[in-house]
Amino acid sequence: DALGPTITIGEILVEIMATDRGAGFLEPITLIGPYPSGAPAIFIDQCARIGGSAGIIGCVGNDDFGRVNVARLRADGADVSAISTSPEFPTGSAFVRYRHDGSRDFVFNIARSAAAQIDLTPAARALIARSGHLHVMGTAFAIPGAARIIEHAITAITARGGSISFDPNVRKELLGQAETRARFARLVDIADLILPSGEELFVAAGMEAESEAVQALLGRNASEVALKRGADGSTVFTRDGRRIDCPAFAVEEIDPTGAGDCFGGAYVACRRLGMPIEQALTYANAAGARNVTAKGPMEGAGTRAELDAFIAATPERRT
Ligand code: ATP
Ligand code: MG
Repeated sequence: DALGPTITIGEILVEIMATDRGAGFLEPITLIGPYPSGAPAIFIDQCARIGGSAGIIGCVGNDDFGRVNVARLRADGADVSAISTSPEFPTGSAFVRYRHDGSRDFVFNIARSAAAQIDLTPAARALIARSGHLHVMGTAFAIPGAARIIEHAITAITARGGSISFDPNVRKELLGQAETRARFARLVDIADLILPSGEELFVAAGMEAESEAVQALLGRNASEVALKRGADGSTVFTRDGRRIDCPAFAVEEIDPTGAGDCFGGAYVACRRLGMPIEQALTYANAAGARNVTAKGPMEGAGTRAELDAFIAATPERRT
């Protein structure tokens, strides 16, 4: 990471989850949490844990939900200097309950929380000024102020020769919005690495067939597309025509939340540490798989040693 740390921008949350599966929160149920969460926070935590230089721009409240997040990120080696504390708003939160079919019910407090108070503070500008890579999470665009900070970071980081990655990470409900589509199109145009999952690929590319969609993305600025396939593993496509498939590791899925973010954090960190695609992809698959074995969105993020042990001990999933 000679040019400086990998940074990301966006929501830092706590997650509080129902211990039992079922529908919603309409009667008293047993909950467990707070767990540190928020897609950008999960990404940057995995990035730091595996040994990448990493920092995040975000905002938490002056409360224990904020402290639990900052303490975790700091302990895992992330630069927390650009996390501001809102004196007025509480830390953002997500209550989640899994249904029996694997879908989820949420109660979010993000739009009126500290997470939405993110700003281009002097500390944020300073972190951007010394960073070498920006990872943009689609979820961050749900926060009104984030787009401006992301634009500033894109300009500053590309000007100093840094690179950009983009995880569309979008909820289906947002895909219809014209503003969201325009922002996505811009990121797709400039990102060096794009990490879509499922239908995000087709939305990002604006077409239906996988190979055409991948070629469309590689026809813009991206030299690599890392396609996440959940329990079916992942594939990296390169502009020079290579296709590297990585089967998933065989694990028992306890909590799928955060797999894609850990995958991205590990992949970006490993590539920036100079690893070849095959090795970075193996670590990314391991990071995603290991994370789903633990309850809590970032509880299964692994250090390089933990992921080496996981890889040695876990068979590949046969498809
Ligand atoms: P998220 O819900 O966090 O946005 P995503 O849809 O972006 O996730 P996934 O494809 O679900 O990303 O997961 C990312 C990677 O993690 C997969 O490509 C795979 O390598 C690994 N992974 C995810 N789920 C499993 C699983 N059940 N078993 C093994 N590996 C998994
Ligand atoms: Mg995702």
